[in-house]
Parts: sequence; C-alpha cells; structure tokens
Amino acid sequence: MGIEIRGINKFFGDFVALEDINLSIPSGQLTALLGPSGGGKSTLLRIIAGLESSDSGTVEIEGVDTTNVPAQKRNVGFVFQHYAAFKHMTVAKNIAFGLEIRKRPKQEVKDRVQELLKLVHLEQWSDRLPSQLSGGQRQRMALARALAIEPSVLLLDEPFGALDAKVRKELRDWLRRLHDEVHVTTVFVTHDQEEALEVSDSLVVINEGRIEQIGSPDDLYDRPASDFVLSFLGPVT
Ligand code: ADP
Ligand code: MG
Repeated sequence: MGIEIRGINKFFGDFVALEDINLSIPSGQLTALLGPSGGGKSTLLRIIAGLESSDSGTVEIEGVDTTNVPAQKRNVGFVFQHYAAFKHMTVAKNIAFGLEIRKRPKQEVKDRVQELLKLVHLEQWSDRLPSQLSGGQRQRMALARALAIEPSVLLLDEPFGALDAKVRKELRDWLRRLHDEVHVTTVFVTHDQEEALEVSDSLVVINEGRIEQIGSPDDLYDRPASDFVLSFLGPVT
C-alpha cells in the first residue's frame, strides 16, 4: 500500500523533467525526496498530488489508481514553502476551511479544529489572524490545515525553506514528533541533506529527473549507489 509510482515520465516541451520514475512509498512512513534544485522533486510531488499530469505512468494511493483522479478528490494534504493562508480568516477558520467546504457537521468541525490546534500547539492563537503569527507558527497552521481532512497522504514541498535556520531546525524536530503521533504517509521534499537525513525514515535521491538511490540514511552513507550520491551527501558530520 502507501504510494505506488510506476513508469512516470514528464516532459516540458523537449525537456525531460522526469524519466521513468518507479517508486514505492511505504504507508505510514516519512519519506524524503532529496536532490539539487531543478532535479524534478516538485514536479513529482505535484504529480502525486494531482496538480500536474504525467505524460505516461500511473500513481496509486493506498491501492487505488488515482492517475486520472483530480487533486481535490485524492484526499491528499499539501503544504508549500509559501503558505497561502486566508488573510482575513482566523487561525481556527483557516484550519476549519477544508472541513467546511466538505460540509461536515458543525460540532464535528469544532471538535476537530480543537484537536488540531492542540496538536500543533496553537490553542492560544486560534482567534488571531495569520499575519499575527510568526513564520514558524504559520507553517504549523498550514500543517494543521493539511491534516484537517485526515488525508491518506501528506505532501510537503520545502515547507520550512523560507524560515531562518533556528526555526527551521525546531520545525524539523517538531514535524518528526508530529509524524510519530499521526503516522500519516508523508512525502517531504527538500534540497537540504541534513534536513532530509534527520527527519525521514527513508530517502529518495533525485537528480536530473532520475532516481539515483532509494534507502535509509545508513544505506546512503554506507553504500552510495553513485558518485553523484556520494558527492551530494558530502562527508559524514
Ligand atoms: P525541483 O523541485 O527539484 O527543484 P522542479 O520539479 O521544480 O525541480 O523542476 C524540474 C525541472 O523542470 C526544472 O528544470 C524546471 O525548470 C522544469 N520545470 C518545472 N516546471 C516547469 C514548467 N511548468 N514549464 C517548464 N519547465 C518546468
Ligand atoms: Mg522544488
């Protein structure tokens, strides 16, 4: 189960963005897609989300072929680097949004929002506007909002990329703890080796539209599959 990606190719004109991507992402784990800028990480994540179509290949989520299913029907939660919050809605309203458009019962929405505020430690901030939050708090709100619909898959594209180093590190540890609580199948895109190694159960190294290696942090260091992996990971610190 989890996410099964088979034979994905993606072209932008003549440019090959992804070439024959085959990948099994295990259920309930936190998998990092790691690689240099322009390698195709975001494109692959957008294809998993249904925000972009592939030129060939299939995507299965929890045993269901979602290749032709539109994004809003895939039950995926998404967090981007620059989170587009509704500026005039409170934190609680922002988190409730996905449930309200799905016409969930009022009490259920209320309870769920309380639960999520607690999960991301924003209970005291529920009536604030997003502009009154720090960058780190805003990304925590984004995570709560993505989790609100109880997605089968959580997709994060450089979610902490815009934050300064200290907050970034805090959120990294915090995401790890959150994941240990909710165990949602998570794909985390980053170009930061250290972040990927610290946060994830397993890594997928992508470069120039191809998978260089799949494995645990130990696998990658002990048995790098190519010169590229070796040089990209750098020396063990
Ligand atoms: P990453 O997220 O790993 O930095 P991307 O998936 O964003 O890489 O991009 C992979 C390559 O595809 C890059 O060379 C990028 O310029 C190109 N690309 C991405 N989206 C488009 C697009 N909509 N049109 C043309 N080229 C694109
Ligand atoms: Mg990207």
